[in-house]
Amino acid sequence: MPSPAPTPYDAIILGAGAAGLFCAAVAGQRGRKVLLIDHADAPGKKILISGGGRCNFTNVNTQPDRYISANPHFAKSALGRYSAQDFIALVDAYGIAWHEKTLGQLFCDGSARQIVAMLLDECAKGGVQIALGQPIGDMAHADGTYRVTYGSKTASAPALVIATGGPSIPKMGATGFAYDLARQFGLKVVEPRPALVPLTLGGEETLFRSLSGVATEVIVRAGKTAFREAALFTHKGLSGPAILQISSYWRHGDPVAVDFLPDTPAGWLTTAKRSQPRATLRSALGGLLPDRLAATLAERLAGDKRLADQSDKLLAEAERRLGAWDFHPNGTEGYAKAEVTAGGISTDGLSSQTMEARKVPGLYAIGEAVDVTGWLGGYNFQWAWASGHAAGLAI
Ligand SMILES: Cc1cc2nc3c(=O)[nH]c(=O)nc-3n(C[C@H](O)[C@H](O)[C@H](O)COP(=O)(O)OP(=O)(O)OC[C@H]3O[C@@H](n4cnc5c(N)ncnc54)[C@H](O)[C@@H]3O)c2cc1C
Repeated sequence: MPSPAPTPYDAIILGAGAAGLFCAAVAGQRGRKVLLIDHADAPGKKILISGGGRCNFTNVNTQPDRYISANPHFAKSALGRYSAQDFIALVDAYGIAWHEKTLGQLFCDGSARQIVAMLLDECAKGGVQIALGQPIGDMAHADGTYRVTYGSKTASAPALVIATGGPSIPKMGATGFAYDLARQFGLKVVEPRPALVPLTLGGEETLFRSLSGVATEVIVRAGKTAFREAALFTHKGLSGPAILQISSYWRHGDPVAVDFLPDTPAGWLTTAKRSQPRATLRSALGGLLPDRLAATLAERLAGDKRLADQSDKLLAEAERRLGAWDFHPNGTEGYAKAEVTAGGISTDGLSSQTMEARKVPGLYAIGEAVDVTGWLGGYNFQWAWASGHAAGLAI
């Protein structure tokens, strides 16, 4: 029996996550007939777990330099045309209460469910047809038409949008599908890697794992990049916002330098030696750092000797190490714990205006699937909204 003719649409969007939902709503509200397909049984699952269930939906400090990409200029156009303020205006129009937590990060007062409900409502306003729990099967492209089989159905459209995200948190249904599809159409993929991910320590640094649960504000550096936020010791190594941020820049084999005392003036230890000669390094550090951390660092630097019994040179060296303590992570906790995936579909082959593949008319890629990765703090959702908006206006 001949297979039934595919149902025609103006655009088929693969992936009902942040980027796909927003892109579908924008295109639908422009009068496009849109089909949005996802293999998960519910839309926006990562939105629901984001920001501890409150969704850090944007960052008021959004700037292109807060994104990592082989082409640092690529994100400028989309971010410039759909800003954090634009998304805030939408959230406000839905009466969703929000607050700024820290560093420009905006969270719902209530629940991330409100953001998903808003996006679904926006899709409904655009008449978007959403097919959930549908594994995507065959994909074909001929005569300017994309043909997609999903479940037992087939759809066709002149535009196909890849919005299936990256492989971080596979237990939530995340896959590398976007990369396979992109390669099928001849697009390049920048080697993906886990980002915003805890780092693991081994070898002689294993002893730091005994500090599991201890947190302190630090400046952490990898190469020329630095972040000042909290770091947290874990039973596997290092985590906390500062470490997650630097993990996106860290490469295997590189050290990560931690300044444990970002607020102490130069020479503070020799000054302490004069003012409290009977103090030990441990007691001096104890006033500045959590006790268990102070003990571990002091032990590695100078034992329990009194400051008065140590040379100024030795104290200066201790101060230097406390200001740039080199850790040598032996890896990351991988995609299972990575908030995002860095790398992805190369921006080389995409238009920064529309997200359309230059050499494959009608094919678009948006969101985390693309080689644009934001800092921690709402930047990744802002990229999902902005890139989804850019493609939504073009399809
Ligand atoms: C725990 C956690 C917390 C986070 N918190 C924040 C935060 O507070 N703020 C922030 O800005 N970012 C946060 N992020 C990052 C953010 O969730 C992502 O950057 C964002 O969801 C990317 O949007 P996307 O639409 O590109 O991909 P996704 O939201 O991942 O959506 C992709 C969709 O594609 C579907 N899909 C995948 N493979 C297939 C396939 N083969 N067939 C069919 N469908 C498929 C998936 O089911 C999913 O619905 C967090 C991430 C995690 C994991």
